[in-house]
Amino acid sequence: MAKKYVYLFREGKASMRDLLGGKGANLAEMTQIGLPVPPGFTITTEACNEYYSIGENVPEGTWEQVWPALTEVEASTGKLFGDKKNPLLVSVRSGAKFSMPGMMDTVLNLGLNDDTVEALAANTQNERFAWDCYRRFIQMFGDVVLEVEHYVFEQILEIAKEKQGVRYDSELSPESLKWMVSEYKKKIQRHTGKPFPMDPRVQLELAVLAVFRSWNNDRANVYRRINNIPHDIGTAVNVQSMVFGNMGSDSGTGVAFTRNPSTGESALYGEYLMNAQGEDVVAGIRTPNPIATLAQENLDIYNQFVDISKRLESHYRDMQDIEFTIERGKLYMLQTRNGKRTASAAIRVAVELFHEGVITKEEAIMRIEPEQLEHLLHRRMDSDAKLQVLAKGLPASPGAASGRIVFSAEEAERLGDAGEKVILIRTETTPDDIRGILAAQGILTSRGGMTSHAAVVSRHMGKPAVCGCDALKIDYGQGLVVIEGVEYSQGTVLSIDGSTGRVIKGEVMMVDPELSEEFKEFLGWADEIARLKVMANADTPTEASNARGYGAVGIGLTRTEHMFMDPARIPIVQAMILAQTLEEREDALAKLLPMQEEDFYGILKAMQGLSVTIRLLDPPLHEFLPHSEELIVEITKLKITQKDPVNLHEKEALLRKVRALSELNPMLGHRGCRLGVSFPEITVMQARAIFQASARLLKEGLDIHPEVMIPLTMGKEEFIMMRKLVDDTAQDVMKEQAIQINYKVGTMIEVPRAALLADEIGKVADFFSFGTNDLTQMTMGLSRDDAQGKFLPVYLEKNLMKTDPFVVLDRDGVGKLIGIGVNLGRSTNPDLHLGICGEHGGEPNSVEFCHIVGLDYVSCSPFRVPIARLAAAQAVVKNKDQSK
Ligand code: PEP
Ligand code: MG
Repeated sequence: MAKKYVYLFREGKASMRDLLGGKGANLAEMTQIGLPVPPGFTITTEACNEYYSIGENVPEGTWEQVWPALTEVEASTGKLFGDKKNPLLVSVRSGAKFSMPGMMDTVLNLGLNDDTVEALAANTQNERFAWDCYRRFIQMFGDVVLEVEHYVFEQILEIAKEKQGVRYDSELSPESLKWMVSEYKKKIQRHTGKPFPMDPRVQLELAVLAVFRSWNNDRANVYRRINNIPHDIGTAVNVQSMVFGNMGSDSGTGVAFTRNPSTGESALYGEYLMNAQGEDVVAGIRTPNPIATLAQENLDIYNQFVDISKRLESHYRDMQDIEFTIERGKLYMLQTRNGKRTASAAIRVAVELFHEGVITKEEAIMRIEPEQLEHLLHRRMDSDAKLQVLAKGLPASPGAASGRIVFSAEEAERLGDAGEKVILIRTETTPDDIRGILAAQGILTSRGGMTSHAAVVSRHMGKPAVCGCDALKIDYGQGLVVIEGVEYSQGTVLSIDGSTGRVIKGEVMMVDPELSEEFKEFLGWADEIARLKVMANADTPTEASNARGYGAVGIGLTRTEHMFMDPARIPIVQAMILAQTLEEREDALAKLLPMQEEDFYGILKAMQGLSVTIRLLDPPLHEFLPHSEELIVEITKLKITQKDPVNLHEKEALLRKVRALSELNPMLGHRGCRLGVSFPEITVMQARAIFQASARLLKEGLDIHPEVMIPLTMGKEEFIMMRKLVDDTAQDVMKEQAIQINYKVGTMIEVPRAALLADEIGKVADFFSFGTNDLTQMTMGLSRDDAQGKFLPVYLEKNLMKTDPFVVLDRDGVGKLIGIGVNLGRSTNPDLHLGICGEHGGEPNSVEFCHIVGLDYVSCSPFRVPIARLAAAQAVVKNKDQSK
């Protein structure tokens, strides 16, 4: 027997989302609990997957199951498909397991043809309505199924309105609509070489195939990539009998949330329009009424709706987003799903549902996507502000900004430096624009996706960005942008909302992120549940206190090189590098020592009571010297002018050193503890700064916990050598200061060899911190900077990788090495403290892996601490079977 590909709504249930998609499963569930749902059936996601595996056709047996299901629908509606008297019309809608709003295709009013349209007109005694349905159907079918470009129909619509002398579609007369239908049909014949199909069964077959095809369209692919939805789960197709909200003043349609989706407040929130179809509510031509006024319009229907929405919320135990239609005074439910909500609403709803006794704390913490929390930590638009949205692009980098628009990085920099707030608009940005991006409040591009240069750079800088906003037509020559036919010239104030992708006219009031009581309560629950501790990567006292504010329980990584980059220190650092003798170098180091001591003093103080892991210098020394190209230019100039021979001489010496230090592959070069092996005095200076700062703080009565971390260790011998330098220095300082300092010495595990020899290293180290940035590079043999900009996107595009391994930890390869490192390390040192400090430490999927593999903590940037806290708790719930 053929597999079951078709399920009537009465045969399914909510738990069948994998097979029936979210919409199909919920329609089935609503049918099961006795709500008024127009009858229909769902063709499964399995049929969609087979459609692709057998080469764009539905599997055998599908149609044989569709027709009997349709017969059942006919029976329960008392209508017949294609009937000349009482025709059944259906909608054909996509519906994947995860909602992908607007990404795939839908056809409404299917079943109409030259005969059934007459029947519809007669039955409703509304010729205009019938012909309007018919022309909408041909238009949708022509566009979606027959792939005739949308504008072809739009042109005819415009001509029809012009001919009749009206402004709105709704004013078109039956005659105009009939004329449009005949024109549409001609165009379709011309574009496809075939007449528009009159047989409703052929229409249905073609529409189902088109919905399956739309799973793989560009938009859908991009949407899945952005939202981490797998490409191989397919969409279901829902075929449902049509109900009409536009059959007169006793009909209507609307959308409502059971709670406020922007604040989370527990009150019905929604809108509706009488005598309208769903798309009219969305299109914004008529202003919908707030749901409360439905009570005045039709109290009975309103009460039914309130009752159903309460039932749905308690049935699903979550806030619902409900679509309904009223057809001639009868209420129908067309869809329900867990409502999308802002991050702050999500938290409020979850916390209140817990207090209402509806869900447990564990369920509550599973209700929020950890990444959503990021939105709460950026400046954002005042949610009460009235916004004039001009266009929408991709929400590329969260936060919001207002400013005068400029079209070049230079202009952004010029105005930005002069204290102006600017929004930089480009088709897309390149690395050359970086200074302009830095100077701008926000970035807006007309091309490029969520991983475009503008998006990545903006996120990194914590700047709001909207990308791929293709409604923007930029004219660099004229210095203006055209949006929906309106010109906005340089200097016009616009706002962008990087959390939603909206481009808004004028300035918008911004509010600082405030962490609500619910937020704190919620994350408190996460901490109760989580096993992993969350620390932060922070290089300054301010970052450290921010991290503390976000709930970090220590600093897992302080990168000391950032302290060396300080403009005031660079000359001393360079003197240290250029030193010809040990003495000269020690001289320079002696100048750096008090500065480093101050750095560590500040961070240790900010984190009193908690541990602070300070990593010794890591990057190759040439990073602190100028680029050879710049030097060559300067030297050439000095040679031409011949005015400053001393300077020329110094620059030439510098260039020689730069060349001597230059490496073919710096990532694998003279860096990490290899620097300490070559120049132990640098290690000693840093260790001394740490212990002198510690001694001072201890004498001030503070409780501090310094930990010294050796970077890029390859094996035990190297580590022992570095550790001895640190331990000896600690002894010296303790003796000098007559004080006992408790400290730890551990290592980064970021070279595969170190993971493989973790049992050896574990014997002599107090802790391991997996540096998964380098470990990923070295395990996969990928240089991050080269790969991300060049060929990694191709790997993602071609599905060779599901996600960027520098964002989401590669569990199979890098993760395996971590597992080896953890087990070997603990085998020789059961007290070994284990964590991660690569970027992955703040990425939810990777945090889950860290939990599974048995790490003690993750460390991530301060802004991601709340995300990691939540992800750590979710990891426990998702992996309940494993020991906590
Ligand atoms: C790492 O390699 O994961 C790490 C944290 O070090 P860095 O990013 O500083 O190289
Ligand atoms: Mg590293």
